[in-house]
Amino acid sequence: MTLHNRKVFRFAPSPNGYLHLGHAYSALRNADLARRFNGRMLVRLEDIDIDRCRNDYEIAILEDLAWLGVEWEKPERRQSEHFALYASRLEDLRSRRLVYPCFCSRGDISRVISGVVSWPRDPDGAPLYPGTCKHMSPAERDSRLAAGQHAALRIDMQEALTLAGERLGWSEFGEGDTPREIAAEPSVWGDTVIGRRDIPASYHIAVVVDDALQGVTDVVRGMDLFNATSLHRLLQSLLELPVPNYRHHHLLKDEAGHKLSKSTRAKSIRSIRSDGLTIGDLRKSFGLS
Ligand code: GLU
Repeated sequence: MTLHNRKVFRFAPSPNGYLHLGHAYSALRNADLARRFNGRMLVRLEDIDIDRCRNDYEIAILEDLAWLGVEWEKPERRQSEHFALYASRLEDLRSRRLVYPCFCSRGDISRVISGVVSWPRDPDGAPLYPGTCKHMSPAERDSRLAAGQHAALRIDMQEALTLAGERLGWSEFGEGDTPREIAAEPSVWGDTVIGRRDIPASYHIAVVVDDALQGVTDVVRGMDLFNATSLHRLLQSLLELPVPNYRHHHLLKDEAGHKLSKSTRAKSIRSIRSDGLTIGDLRKSFGLS
């Protein structure tokens, strides 16, 4: 099998905290599939959030991955090296009027929607953007930008859907071997942010650009990102990027039934290691042979 037809997997942690059990499961699923298919395994540090990402977390993550028995191609890929690329793809969307600048803070949005009973929300729970800046006159927009006001870039969902035209979907393997076709529903995100105010990127643009750049054929990640895949499919269509297979796996839950996350202080792999648990015990607890 040549380099060109090997499957490419990636584990893509954000170095803004230690890896927890949920990350370990995801990393092991990727590594196991890469081994099974004689594929390539990449580690991509998703460090666009430069204020929250830290070098010591990065070192700890790589150490934990090695302890987990994950083998990956060196060097690790790093999103902070691709800001110029993300900015150029955003500019491409902007020149085609598929994104527009938005000056609203969260507070501005809350004020606009306050008093409206059950304002629609996106799959992450954020209120759908009420469209304030979409209707701003070009003159006002230009003068605010010229005055140095920072703006996020929001996708013009209606325009984007019109342009993408065709029905979008993807092949979803879940945790098995048989794909089912999923119809993408990007409209559930409304005019969501594709370029952040503080950095010239967003998770969504960075992930689709990098998956294409790195030739990722199979995206293996948690179900918490299942809905984001609809938006990723839209961006791939607008930017004419190849479409990987998706394998969204179940999420590990704590005793209270909540998804493990940094914010709920899920037990880190570090502390599991120091408790003396072995990788064999861990794999067994995940139901991995
Ligand atoms: N960086 C994301 C996270 O840590 C994962 C992104 C992805 O796999 O697409 O949750």
